[in-house]
Amino acid sequence: MVEGSMIILGIESSCDETAVAVVDDERNILSNIVSSQYQDHKPFGGVVPEIAARAHLTHIELIVNKALEEADLTLDEIDGVAVSGGPGLIGGVIVGVMMAKGLAIAKSKPFIPVNHLEAHALTARLAHDISFPYLFLLVSGGHCQFLIVEEVGDYTYLGGTIDDAVGECLDKTARLLGYAYPGGPTIEKLAMKGNPDAFLLPTPLKGQVGCSFSFSGLKTAARKVILEKKNTTSSFQADFCASFQKTIGEILVDRARHAFSMALEKKPEINNLIVAGGVAANQYFRECLAACAQENGALLVTPPVSLCTDNGAMVAWAGIEYLKRGFEGSLDFTPRPRWPLESLKVK
Ligand code: AMP
Ligand code: MG
Repeated sequence: MVEGSMIILGIESSCDETAVAVVDDERNILSNIVSSQYQDHKPFGGVVPEIAARAHLTHIELIVNKALEEADLTLDEIDGVAVSGGPGLIGGVIVGVMMAKGLAIAKSKPFIPVNHLEAHALTARLAHDISFPYLFLLVSGGHCQFLIVEEVGDYTYLGGTIDDAVGECLDKTARLLGYAYPGGPTIEKLAMKGNPDAFLLPTPLKGQVGCSFSFSGLKTAARKVILEKKNTTSSFQADFCASFQKTIGEILVDRARHAFSMALEKKPEINNLIVAGGVAANQYFRECLAACAQENGALLVTPPVSLCTDNGAMVAWAGIEYLKRGFEGSLDFTPRPRWPLESLKVK
């Protein structure tokens, strides 16, 4: 362990947010600037990798400066530069990694490339005083998986989606209803006014052993209902969204029950379920998962919404976790579009 206070700059550019934050090892977020590219991608109904890479390049310098300015610090006062080194869209990851390397070289500071998924997994320790091990569910636009977080750099994969991520299922279904990306928040809003029992939708893999997910069947069934009804009245939309959200909640809870039994068998001391990723912003899913955690003698912990979606603070925090343990990255690091969490082993 490295003693003394530590301030890290974290850069995130692996998808459609250019984000930079400054965080210290006492869990203070000194600045957290997120520049979203929603508007750039909106006309295309999803993230376009080439547009994302160019937008990161255009904005990153400005965002770094803004993050330092808001933290009221200069680069000389920073103890290291952390960056999402993957997985993600390669063009964006390259922009972040090159910027981080440049800053680290210019100021002779440690360079710490971190796994983007690991940054999500460790955010709970930035927001709350959580100790290892814990059960972790990542639900975002591109990921949907359960892991046991045993230590920094030590993850056991329990199961994940065999087709679509849950966020993708929400976004594509919202699009069919005529709503722009990201669809998740719109579905949550519409669902508030609807009848969750109006439509019966399938719950793929429910009750099956393991904790894999499958959303493509639900997506197709949802598509069928929407196209059949050809009905865009507000009551149809509200009832449909409420039913759709309830179905996803049912799937998440069933899979979480199975994940708990797998995790507790391996690590009986687990008493926290951490949920992160953009979809974790959903209040209904949080309530369902909180009840499930309680059934298993555990507590659901969700980082604040601003830390659930992609951000630089989680990257800076992961950098702190590594640097505190004496791990520093190499400037030879190459961006990794694919980088499974369970492949990390630093011990
Ligand atoms: P991320 O991939 O972590 O950047 O998160 C983006 C994903 O989270 C998108 O698929 C969004 O639709 C989804 N999302 C964001 N807010 C919500 C919400 N309130 N309910 C459900 N999904 C959401
Ligand atoms: Mg994103």
